[in-house]
Amino acid sequence: MTNHTGTPASTPSTTTIDTLAERVLGPVLRPGDDGFEQERSGFQTAFQLRPAVIVGATGSDDVSAAVGHAAERGLPVAVRAGGHGAPFAAEGGVLISTRRMDAVHVDPNTRTARLGAGVRWEKVVAEAARHGLAPLNGSSPGVGAVPYTLGGGLGHLARRYGYAADHVRSIDVVGADARLRHVTADSDPDLFWALRGGRDNFGVVTGMEVGLVPVERIFGGSMVFDGGLVEEVLHAYLEWTRSLPEEMTSSVATVVYPDVPGLPDHLRGRHVAQVRIAFTGTAAEGEQLVAPLRAVGPRLKDTLAEMPYAASGAIYEEPDTPHAYCGDNAMLQRLDASVVRPIAELTGPDAPVMCVMGIRHLGGALAGPPAAPSAVGHRAARYLLTILSPLGEREVVRAVHRRVLEQAAPWAMGTSLNFVFGDGERLSPERVRAAYDPGDRTRLAALKARVDPANTFRMNHNVAPHAGPSAEPASG
Ligand SMILES: Cc1cc2nc3c(=O)[nH]c(=O)nc-3n(C[C@H](O)[C@H](O)[C@H](O)COP(=O)(O)OP(=O)(O)OC[C@H]3O[C@@H](n4cnc5c(N)ncnc54)[C@H](O)[C@@H]3O)c2cc1C
Repeated sequence: MTNHTGTPASTPSTTTIDTLAERVLGPVLRPGDDGFEQERSGFQTAFQLRPAVIVGATGSDDVSAAVGHAAERGLPVAVRAGGHGAPFAAEGGVLISTRRMDAVHVDPNTRTARLGAGVRWEKVVAEAARHGLAPLNGSSPGVGAVPYTLGGGLGHLARRYGYAADHVRSIDVVGADARLRHVTADSDPDLFWALRGGRDNFGVVTGMEVGLVPVERIFGGSMVFDGGLVEEVLHAYLEWTRSLPEEMTSSVATVVYPDVPGLPDHLRGRHVAQVRIAFTGTAAEGEQLVAPLRAVGPRLKDTLAEMPYAASGAIYEEPDTPHAYCGDNAMLQRLDASVVRPIAELTGPDAPVMCVMGIRHLGGALAGPPAAPSAVGHRAARYLLTILSPLGEREVVRAVHRRVLEQAAPWAMGTSLNFVFGDGERLSPERVRAAYDPGDRTRLAALKARVDPANTFRMNHNVAPHAGPSAEPASG
């Protein structure tokens, strides 16, 4: 293993790990220890994490001890909560597992929630719902709320309320100097800006306070059309999303239902087009708005109805069991109807790998300026195109994904890091830069040079430290 300068980094000896174990309350695990295998496995099973040591953190003191231990020895730090997104193998590093830090505390008076670093959305949604409130969670209840938010966070209520990152009030973070800081827009505007969008490049977040919104019920669910109607559905969806109120957040996807017992026979193993809806207006208005989509043809399944927001985790019907997957995306200025046929053909039943292609409708509050600016990029994008496959033969999967994204290349502004699902490899520096607006890349690299010059937080989609006045860094 080498460190960021290319020189060999030391591996922690048994003695130094014993010293670390004396300083933390949670378990400190080495390869071969009981619990190591369980602790390193997560939702993404495409690759095994191979850290030299895992710290099962129970609080910010444990995080601070783990970061200090790593920084003193030139070891890289990796962090993990729900394990949906980890894009690297954490080879030889110190892996901080935050799943024990899963507290959530809702204050209905201030309409805020305090989130522990490892809490998953399902717990936050349930707790907020007890007070008639909702967080800005996304499609999957099992995703870690803090990592999701650090990556921007594109949720069910996105067009109405913006990114989850826009609703962060304060962040507690352990920096490369192992110190815990309470960061707000007033106390450290630069770091507060960078953490929201810059993800895991500036420290290990131990908790955050987020604003909640007064949403108790929505008109939501999904409409599922036969695969033979994919092109019609995609055309109708692009037309439909030209003029929608921002109370309507939606997406469309081509999906293949698994062929498993428990699913109705008419859905098992079937290629379908699925439109997913979350509307904060009344059910009557929602029914009227979706009429042009229902008019496309008969639905194999139609769950659209008024529902408690607490049940929103069911809208996307995403699998909740760990598996191996790989995915990529493009944030788009617009999406021309001319791409419908090639994309449908590339991702349909004849594709060499199974593909879940998604188009999320952006705009609305996502395009507006947030109360406190953040590093979340490409706010003016109108669509997010995503492509995801089970990870079989890497080169075959990557080639299909490349071809799908090429169709939309004329309108691509960049990527969203939250929707890059790797196969154990970090993104190239060019790909990381594509996640940010041009001026922001320079600002992030300069801040990184100030707060993490040794690049201790490098087991991520890395923003390399670069202190130059304007030139962009050449490598990650
Ligand atoms: C099925 C599925 C559905 C999804 N739906 C959405 C969606 O609707 N909207 C959306 O925006 N995203 C969505 N995502 C993406 C998801 O938000 C990101 O992958 C998120 O980072 C996953 O968090 P995690 O805790 O599960 O993963 P992890 O793999 O544990 O963490 C992901 C990354 O965050 C970093 N990280 C973790 N904890 C910390 C910390 N305490 N401090 C600093 N950095 C940290 C890690 O370095 C890691 O690289 C989805 C992903 C999946 C697999």
